[in-house]
This record gives sequence, C-alpha cells and structure tokens, in this order.
Amino acid sequence: MPFAKLGLPTALLRGVRAAGYHTPTPIQSKAIPLALEGVDIVAAAQTGSGKTAAFVLPIMARLMDRPHALRCLVLAPTRELAAQIETSARDLCRFTNLKVGVVHGGVNIGPQERMLRGEGVDMLVATPGRLLDLQGRQSVALDDVEVLVLDEADRMVDMGFAPDLKRILRLLPKDRQTMMFSATMPPALNEVAREALHDPVRVDLSPSTRTVSGITQAVYPVSRGLKTDLLDELLRRTDTDGVIVFARTKRGADRLARQLEKRGHAVAALHGDRTQSQRERALRDLKRGRIAVLVATDIASRGIDVEDLTHVINYDVPMAPEDYVHRIGRTARADAKGDAFTLMSPEEDRDMKAIERFIGKGILRVTIPDFDYKKQPTPMSGEERGGGGRGRDRERGGHSGGGHGGRSANGSSSGGRSQPTRQVSSTPSEPVHGRKPRRQAPGAGRKRM
Ligand code: AMP
Repeated sequence: MPFAKLGLPTALLRGVRAAGYHTPTPIQSKAIPLALEGVDIVAAAQTGSGKTAAFVLPIMARLMDRPHALRCLVLAPTRELAAQIETSARDLCRFTNLKVGVVHGGVNIGPQERMLRGEGVDMLVATPGRLLDLQGRQSVALDDVEVLVLDEADRMVDMGFAPDLKRILRLLPKDRQTMMFSATMPPALNEVAREALHDPVRVDLSPSTRTVSGITQAVYPVSRGLKTDLLDELLRRTDTDGVIVFARTKRGADRLARQLEKRGHAVAALHGDRTQSQRERALRDLKRGRIAVLVATDIASRGIDVEDLTHVINYDVPMAPEDYVHRIGRTARADAKGDAFTLMSPEEDRDMKAIERFIGKGILRVTIPDFDYKKQPTPMSGEERGGGGRGRDRERGGHSGGGHGGRSANGSSSGGRSQPTRQVSSTPSEPVHGRKPRRQAPGAGRKRM
C-alpha cells in the first residue's frame, strides 16, 4: 500500500517524499492507520524497521494545525536514539508548523530549559532521567500531553528506568494515547505496560515478515562453482566470532564442512542426521570458540539458541523467503550487531528478489575487490579430501602470492586477473558496516561496500 493511502495529510506526505521514502515498511503500513484511529498500540518492532516514522507520522497528523503546546512525549532509552528520533521527526514534519525538541542527559541542562520555556515544542523526545530532572526544576509541564510513545521500552527497563517511567506516567494526563515499541516483553515491562496502556492493539509483525535490527545484510553474486572459494575468502577477510553457514541439504552441508576443513577452517556440520549429542556438541563448540564455523541446514536454524553469533552466511539462497528471515534471525540477538551474507549465483537471482520483496527492502550487492571471479573453481577431490597437492588448491592459497595471510594488504592483487572493484547496489540499500578486518587491511575493500 502506498503512503498516500494511509490517511496522512498532504504536508506529511511531502515530508515522506522528501525523506526519500517510497513505500511504507510493514510496521508503517500496520501501525499508521491504527495510530490515526487514536487507539493504544503495543508494537514489536525494532530499530531498522521504520518504526520511528510509524509513530511520528500519525502523531504529527493529529497535532497539525493545533495551537502550540507540548502534546506529544516520546521516551527513549539513550541519547543517541533520542537524537535520532528527533532528527527523523524534524525531517518528516518539515512542511508543517510543528516543532520538535530533544532533551537527554550528558549535556548542559540550561539550553534545554531555555528551549522548553522559550519557543516550546509540540513533540518532545526525551530520556527518562533528564525529563524528570527538568520536571523537578519546573522547566517542563506535561499537562497537555495527549500522546505518549515508549520507544525501545524493553531497553529502558533493562537499563533500570522502570521506576522513572512509572513516575513519569503519574505526571501525565490519564486521557491520552500511548504507543509502546518493544522487541521483547520482560516482566518488569509488563508492569509498566499495564499502567501505561489501555486496551492496546498489538501490532505484531509475524516473525516471518520481520528481520532483526542490527543485522547488516549483503548479497555476494558469484557463479555456483566459485561459491566455496568465495566463502573461504569471506571467512578469511572478515573478523568473525561465531559463524553459521547455511546449506540447503544435509549432503551439501557435510560436503561444504569437509571442503572448509580442508582449507583450514575449524568447522562442524549440524543437520538432522546428527544425533542430539553431536548437535549439542557442535553448538557448544561454536559457543566456546572451539570451532569458528558451523555448517547447518534449515532444520538446524529453527529453535537453536546460539547467542553472540556475528555472522550468518547463506551458501544457498533460501527458496522460501521465510527461511531467509529465520536464518538471519540467528544473529544480532539482544542488540548485538550481526552480518548476514548471502552467496547468490545467477540462477538464484529470482529467489533473492522474492526475498527482498518479502522483507520490503533491497539488499546491497557486494563484490570482493581482488577475488578472481573468472577463475576456474577449485576442483574437489573424490571425497572432498586428500587433494592438497592439486595445482588449483595450491593456487587458492597462493593466488595472491603465497598463503592466505600473504594477500596484499591494500587489497590489490598480485595477479593481473582480478575483477575491478565493482559495487552494484539495489535500492533501497543499506551500508554494509563490515567488521574491521582482522589483519591490516585485507578486507579494506569491504568496508565501503
Ligand atoms: P527506524 O527503524 O525508524 O530507525 O528506521 C530505520 C531507517 O529506515 C531510517 O534510516 C529511516 O530513515 C529509514 N526508513 C524508514 N521508513 C522508511 C521507508 N518507508 N522507506 C525507506 N526508508 C525508510
């Protein structure tokens, strides 16, 4: 559904266009019409889902063309998030008469007091502690607040803000609309929610349409035959700390595990044919860092709990878009940052596009600057083992001039056949914040990809 159909006033639609948004994200499509009705909302949406606009736009629609007063309070756990919300809100309301302000700790309170007492704001974004300080100094009056937003509410509670939130709730008019955004519902938050919300509507994007925040996604186009070589290269260039590589079949997982092992990676395979104790051992080994890479099938991607994974790599593009979301959900738990890479052969382009439609955004296409995309694939020995003496295998390690560690530090290849740096990004794309290369700069090309 386009933004124009969500019931927003023209001035805000202009703001949306100016912000460069074309299509609402799933949370926006669901939450905006509901919020415009004025009901209380609890939404399970995270940073990266477009949740800020999901609450800012309907609130602005409600506040437009009214006499100025502090009518909307947005509470956020950190000053970074508060500042980010304020910036987005200002952006979106640039064609309206609304004023947005932000107050948070860690900076001088004086200018914040002057802002509140002086020109005033219609929407105030605040961290709880600083808001209470200001209120204690009688620099802010909350009697006109009609809409309250608790953003990243679980994080606020995790950070010990529950008592502050309760105090703030008591300072606000009872007759108001409240929206709460929270990825999880810890018990302490339940209490706050009971006090804050009245008969809320749950906006729960089914897990299958949600991708986890904190995940940086990238697609690596490569021919089918070079996938293992590219994967090997990626594993070497990227500073990983716990990787799951997904393969489509059990056999494929076993084969890939053997190939990676042969190339020097500490690896185990996890799939339905493994006994429970083998699976548990593989997971334990990954958690403890005894192995660096777990090659798994989709069966293994559901219901396993591997926290602190930094990378999920899809060796095959999942055929069902839901599997993509499940797979990449293994990483970036609990606000950690995670990367999800997908190796995509030309035949898999359509499946990848279906995934992008499903998750509602395009994923950046990335090529590794000095990886030789035209080379012959490293041949496999009969059983993917015992082929160490083969020329190609040797060349793999040596095609940049002697051993993996010997790849030239600036990413330039000593061979003349390397693919020029190329970056084709689908839109909308997001930057790939690669982890810092482990050694000097062998992955220097990645950072900008
Ligand atoms: P948020 O989850 O609100 O932090 O938003 C994450 C990022 O997505 C921000 O950079 C927004 O500017 C951007 N964004 C939000 N909504 C849309 C949209 N409908 N289309 C494209 N980008 C969006």
